Amino acid sequence: MNYQVNENGYYGQFGGAYIPEILYANIEELKNNYLSIINDPAFQKEYADLLRDYVGRPSPLFLAQRLSEKYRTTIYLKREDLNHTGAHKINNSIGQVLLARRMGKTRIIAETGAGQHGVATATVCALLNMPCFVYMGATDVERQHLNVQKMEMLGATVVPVHSGNKTLKDATNEAIRDWCSHPVDTHYVIGSTIGPHPYPDLVARFQSIISQEMMQQLEEKTGRNYPDYVVACVGGGSNAAGAFYHYLDNEKVRFIAAEAAGKGVDTPYSAATIHLGKEGIIHGCRTLIMQSEDGQIEEPYSISAGLDYPGIGPLHAYLAKVHRSQVLAITDDEAMEAAFELTRMEGIIPALESAHALAVLNKISFKPDDVVVVNLSGRGDKDMETYVKAMNDKKA
Ligand SMILES: *Cc1c(COP(=O)(O)O)cnc(C)c1O
Repeated sequence: MNYQVNENGYYGQFGGAYIPEILYANIEELKNNYLSIINDPAFQKEYADLLRDYVGRPSPLFLAQRLSEKYRTTIYLKREDLNHTGAHKINNSIGQVLLARRMGKTRIIAETGAGQHGVATATVCALLNMPCFVYMGATDVERQHLNVQKMEMLGATVVPVHSGNKTLKDATNEAIRDWCSHPVDTHYVIGSTIGPHPYPDLVARFQSIISQEMMQQLEEKTGRNYPDYVVACVGGGSNAAGAFYHYLDNEKVRFIAAEAAGKGVDTPYSAATIHLGKEGIIHGCRTLIMQSEDGQIEEPYSISAGLDYPGIGPLHAYLAKVHRSQVLAITDDEAMEAAFELTRMEGIIPALESAHALAVLNKISFKPDDVVVVNLSGRGDKDMETYVKAMNDKKA
């Protein structure tokens, strides 16, 4: 088995580049240059220096002792929550803006749902002095006001999108439209392992620093550079892709992907794309999509804003299809419970997205000598309102 993207941009039947004619030259330029640029030692040094001194990497691998006792196994947390801007997304934003600069681009655009990718990209654009335009659904602009304020303070222009449901899918369409009208000077920083080839591979490579560090950290802590399980949540799939990446060909390592079941996979309120999706094309790639009988994209639902994308990265559609990964659908309630459990047992308030990965601990019986790494993709500051509401509901 080979889990790398093939030269046509596919993982099995998933992936490819389904793009409007006008973007053909851009995608070709990116496809023909990305590997040579990111493998260039000068690029790698610049990227590694920023990851160390700006993001604060390597992120620690923390032995969660009380959780380990409770679940009778050994549980480590990969602390992406400690990164600058609070999640793994900055790993990708730094990589892509550096790449854009080397390709001679002078303008950055991005889409954002909850605003996390927008903030990460606006942050890097401030650092590297690039103009930044972030497309965001008007509904999300209202729901995620703090992130809008952060992006504006960082000097980015937030463009509210009023089409469709005014959420992530519509923001992505609008960002693609912007790129079509500025194909020469602009780079589109996609925030997850989605979009046309080579984006899924490009983003996975930038996030692969997560498993690269894990190998060394596990070697030091356990005497073996791989765990028995890696657990991660999947929205578009970038933190999971990074956490799995260097173990893809090591079949001794089992992967568990946690997708958002919302109120349940048997309700209309779900974002469990791998469980419920059907094959189709979204934002330039063939993958599994939440869609109606007649192929209209359905608005997904999850309590966590970062997991409610109606598609899934083609790598994860493929890993699930060939049973290289096991996919669990975690409900809002299960994620909420896991978030409070981590907070009370280890003193770490996780992002609601990451709480979906933590909820897996309750669903799988691990063996006492298993080593389990849960990728803690982000911190919970942004979710405090939701957490406070849950506490108040409990009291009432
Ligand atoms: C955006 C986000 C996710 C989901 O995105 P992926 O590309 O699937 O990783 C998960 N966790 C956090 C904290 C996020 O901000």
